[in-house]
Amino acid sequence: MNPGQHAISVEQLHKSFGENEVLKGIDLTANRGEVISVLGSSGSGKSTLLRCMNLLEIPDSGIVRVTGEEVLMKKNRRGENLPADIKQVERIRSRIAMVFQQFNLWAHMTILENVMEAPVYVLKQKRAEVRDRAIFYLNKVGIADKLDAYPIHLSGGQQQRAAIARALCIEPEVMLFDEPTSALDPELVGEVLQVMRDLAAEGRTMIVVTHEMGFAREVSSRTIFIEQGLIIENGTPQQVFDSPKTERFEMFIAAMM
Ligand code: ADP
Ligand code: MG
Repeated sequence: MNPGQHAISVEQLHKSFGENEVLKGIDLTANRGEVISVLGSSGSGKSTLLRCMNLLEIPDSGIVRVTGEEVLMKKNRRGENLPADIKQVERIRSRIAMVFQQFNLWAHMTILENVMEAPVYVLKQKRAEVRDRAIFYLNKVGIADKLDAYPIHLSGGQQQRAAIARALCIEPEVMLFDEPTSALDPELVGEVLQVMRDLAAEGRTMIVVTHEMGFAREVSSRTIFIEQGLIIENGTPQQVFDSPKTERFEMFIAAMM
């Protein structure tokens, strides 16, 4: 396969917290434009997987590649894995955006300031250009009228759309979503899923941890199911939902109904 097509991939990813082995050898590749939904019960390692992809956690072993570039690792004296080159980590991180369950907007900044923050202060881009882009993305998620408001004055759905605009404003190669609708009141879930559907239709590369089975089935190009730190289902949504290979996934689906 042409490595240029790879947006992000991990190979034999392992991660433990103390005695707790959370990821037990995960292999996953997202090609450009793919939307992968990640399913799994609580504690199965989904967030840890996203955090390792984003280098918010450093895997104990295995390879992370972003747009074909392998994250270089070294061992410290205790034999623990560490990034070999912090500059490389910063560069690679700027290609990945993450959207969290709890939005994680800065309470003391307006919506516009939130969206502009990383491009201006982390990526050192020109303020005027970032501002135009921020307004463009706030329009895209349908909340340009809220740009001077503070997060507390927005509904949960609006806050999450602001968080998505913030992710878009760094113009990432890959977007990681960690249960983006799980903290929302049911009537606000739809507006956030609609924005995500639009992003998928634009051909953005997205990895989405979700419990929204409709989204997984209809929007994602691939569905994986993680159980105790291993991927035990991996296929098109049709393959995985209609002919699961494991009884565990059938039970998971049955419990969701
Ligand atoms: P999921 O997102 O699928 O619910 P997580 O990846 O958050 O699962 O967690 C998987 C396991 O790893 C859980 O047992 C959790 O307690 C543990 N864990 C996650 N992050 C940490 C951490 N920073 N320190 C210690 N244990 C952690
Ligand atoms: Mg989680």
